[in-house]
Amino acid sequence: MSKGFGDSDFSQVQTDRATSHSIERVLEQDREQAEHARELMAKGAYGVCEDCGQKIPPERLEALPEATRCISCQATWEKTNPR
Ligand SMILES: [Zn+2]
Repeated sequence: MSKGFGDSDFSQVQTDRATSHSIERVLEQDREQAEHARELMAKGAYGVCEDCGQKIPPERLEALPEATRCISCQATWEKTNPR
């Protein structure tokens, strides 16, 4: 191992790796969610909350086109499925 590669440098490398890994995971989940929204669109079920069946407000879909749940179901889902 080369000189100057101290413990603090090493833990910094580990932190950077962990951070980029979690970003990748989030991006991956966003891709899956966008794909899921497209599937619902193909079935004609897009814009309807997949949990409670209520219509998702158009302004929410505008802000978050891949949304497949209403705001309250999404909040519940995020509580039970922490990233
Ligand atoms: Zn809902």
